[in-house]
Amino acid sequence: MQTCKYCGRLKTLVKSHIIPRSFCEIKSFQQNAPHNALSLPSDSADLKPVKRSIGMCDDELFCKVCEDKFMIYDAYAFKLLHEQGNRRKTLRDEQGQVLGAYYETYDYNKLKLFFISVLLRAGLSDVFFFKHVKVGPYLEQLKDAVDAGAAPASNDFAVFLAYYDEIKRGPILFPPSQKRIQKIKFFYFHIGQVIFYIKIDKRATPQELQPIILQPSGKLVLMTLSHKDPANFDILKGIERIRHGIE
Ligand SMILES: [Zn+2]
Repeated sequence: MQTCKYCGRLKTLVKSHIIPRSFCEIKSFQQNAPHNALSLPSDSADLKPVKRSIGMCDDELFCKVCEDKFMIYDAYAFKLLHEQGNRRKTLRDEQGQVLGAYYETYDYNKLKLFFISVLLRAGLSDVFFFKHVKVGPYLEQLKDAVDAGAAPASNDFAVFLAYYDEIKRGPILFPPSQKRIQKIKFFYFHIGQVIFYIKIDKRATPQELQPIILQPSGKLVLMTLSHKDPANFDILKGIERIRHGIE
């Protein structure tokens, strides 16, 4: 028996998949992964890289009741972002160059709560893979949203998405990291082929991001990050091009 980090009760804890296992087991990612993409960072030179989702589970996090709260969001996100990938339409500029992709419709509440719950799970976890993710004073807001089943407004924990248009060349599952956009703090997470950015800052979302952040109505836009490193990719430049594409 241990203390569940969600409800605080003394319970038997279950294995939590912080990045849902479905996203880590997409076959093509594993086959095309650079051979060290899914390995755990290690000081041991003789540790062979492994193509499994090790390091993304935590069995000292939640009881079964709490872990199950995330199921519907995990299932929805996987269905939309992976299984229904063929619903995506391509977004091109006037020269026909691909800027990104979009879905005409999606369920804002479920998808946003998925990202909220991944942030919450990663923030509460002590496993090495998520060591950079700290949610500090935002923990209660994240939990309240999950408990109420009601996603926060678009600019609270604002989220936007990107993806690698060529799986083969892109990194697959790197640990989540921090990125500042116009000084505002975001974390970004790789989930399969998709990368999501989530704001963890009480200041306003940069105006430039408005065209692509998740909104309760409207399209779901994913910007393309072909062969680019998400740490250095110029997001604002990418969005400026997308904005022209949408309008
Ligand atoms: Zn619990």
